[in-house]
Amino acid sequence: MTGPVPASGRSSAFDVVVLGSGVAGLVAALDLLDARPDLRVAVVDKGAMGTVGSTPLAQGGLAAAVGPDDSPELHAADTLRAGDGLGDRQAVRVMSEEGPDRVADLVRRGAAFDRRDVPGGPFALAREGGQSVARSVRAVDATGAEIFRALSAAAAGRITRVQGMGCALVQPLPGGPVRGVWVLLDEVAEAPGAPAQSPGLACLRAGAVLLASGGCGGLYAATTNREGSTADGVALAAAAGAALIDLEFVQFHPTGLRVDGAAGAQRLLLTEALRGAGAVLRDAGGRRFMVGLHPDAELAPRFVVTRGILDQPGGAWLDATALDPAVLAAEFPTVLAGVRAAGYDLSAEPVPVEPTQHYFVGGVATDLDGATSLPGLFAAGEAACTGVHGANRMAGNSLLQSAVFAHRAALALAGDLPAPEQTRRELAAEADPPPPALSPAGSVAGSAALRAELRSAMSAGAGAVRTAEGLDDALKALDAVAHALGGRPAADRDGIELASLVRVGRLIVRSATLRQESRGVHWRADAPLREPAWDGVRLRVGEAAHVPRPTGGVW
Ligand SMILES: Cc1cc2nc3c(=O)[nH]c(=O)nc-3n(C[C@H](O)[C@H](O)[C@H](O)COP(=O)(O)OP(=O)(O)OC[C@H]3O[C@@H](n4cnc5c(N)ncnc54)[C@H](O)[C@@H]3O)c2cc1C
Repeated sequence: MTGPVPASGRSSAFDVVVLGSGVAGLVAALDLLDARPDLRVAVVDKGAMGTVGSTPLAQGGLAAAVGPDDSPELHAADTLRAGDGLGDRQAVRVMSEEGPDRVADLVRRGAAFDRRDVPGGPFALAREGGQSVARSVRAVDATGAEIFRALSAAAAGRITRVQGMGCALVQPLPGGPVRGVWVLLDEVAEAPGAPAQSPGLACLRAGAVLLASGGCGGLYAATTNREGSTADGVALAAAAGAALIDLEFVQFHPTGLRVDGAAGAQRLLLTEALRGAGAVLRDAGGRRFMVGLHPDAELAPRFVVTRGILDQPGGAWLDATALDPAVLAAEFPTVLAGVRAAGYDLSAEPVPVEPTQHYFVGGVATDLDGATSLPGLFAAGEAACTGVHGANRMAGNSLLQSAVFAHRAALALAGDLPAPEQTRRELAAEADPPPPALSPAGSVAGSAALRAELRSAMSAGAGAVRTAEGLDDALKALDAVAHALGGRPAADRDGIELASLVRVGRLIVRSATLRQESRGVHWRADAPLREPAWDGVRLRVGEAAHVPRPTGGVW
């Protein structure tokens, strides 16, 4: 059922508030309502549907063992191999085994994936990096857009959609249960089926909150993510005292389009499925440098290809000219158009590429049902970390893990939450929470320059290649930005995002400094080997009121 419309200056009560409307947020909300139609679920997003988040951008596909030559065991083995010795075996098993059912759910909700031969026939699967067989269910090269279309259509009229910036968790006692989210509401005109919304701070109280707020690309000078991927949910969880984990692992996709002198940070991704279809990587002299570096050459795990590219002094080019132009046009229309807009013809010439920030492997520590270390707080999708990716995410496993663990979180919430009347009574009995301490909107001077400083510091010191000295420089630069921001974030989107970036950036740098080895996507040029002493050690940051499951290396 839909719930009350939040109003500025007021508090409204829900059973669950979901922060973020990408694949994780929408799967969680829909599956929760399927299991418990009595609940009032609000989904908050800081932008209009489809214009924000990574889900609508996802290209290559969603990995699941649905092919005739595949199995959950093979999928799990590939995932653990790509994770470079740090993947959580239980999480990987759950994801691989439950993947086919989540694909069936998406199809049931209306997602039209490519089929071989006939509609309803076997899936036309793409093979991507790290996969030993073709495993990615796709909708040409716009898989995320199709999943998002189907999920948002299914959610229409079933959830209360709130447009605004989640800026703090409601937590009556420090370190205690989470009971809602403070939101800076946007001004939104009335639309069919949705009432108008006036701007201002509103308190959305709830029996539980699920963070599904996506990645951290906003921390870097070149990223495949949109501008708004600023790790807000991870920052909100950290501020509330929830445990975070694996923060040093930030994945760089080997083949972002290299653009010199670009205005913004967002870069076009040239999907790994292109390499799966036969595109190769060449150095400045035209040599295929990945052959000889890894038995799978261009289809080696991402961090291997990224290191291979960064070792080429003259840069790298993706060469798809051997592919049939008709196949390129039919299967990669989104990438072809994007590359053409940048002035290149993918079917006729090699295109310059470089490793580009792509995915946050770490995040809010959760168990296999989305529970964080704080009661009442759940997380799913890219904002969460079950340990399924280990030290490096394999292609297609992000959409999959988002769907699998959001579904499990929904079932756990459905089982745990009391009847709505009881939640409403409990919330009414609690004192009104004090609003978060914010500075006036627009009070950050030179915020664009601060953001640029922060991004270049993170790219230089905590990017694809790290050293102790570079990390130290990055930390100093982040401290300077934090000093310029002052103690209280400005009460606007820009102010909250900057505060999130600084908080999470510092934690990433701290974790990357501690892990003195190279593993997966964490590459320390001053400690270039994978060290047995770090096997199984996962760095956990922050307070943990209750620890979901034991992991090594808690600090
Ligand atoms: C270009 C690109 C291609 C990709 N291709 C693939 C692929 O082929 N296969 C694959 O498996 N993965 C792929 N990925 C990764 C995958 O798309 C993402 O990891 C996944 O979609 C994340 O889903 P999510 O629901 O966790 O977050 P998102 O889809 O990023 O959604 C998060 C939402 O939270 C909202 N939000 C954030 N902070 C706040 C706040 N403070 N208040 C309110 N709302 C907030 C955002 O606006 C956003 O809508 C790709 C990513 C990119 C960028």
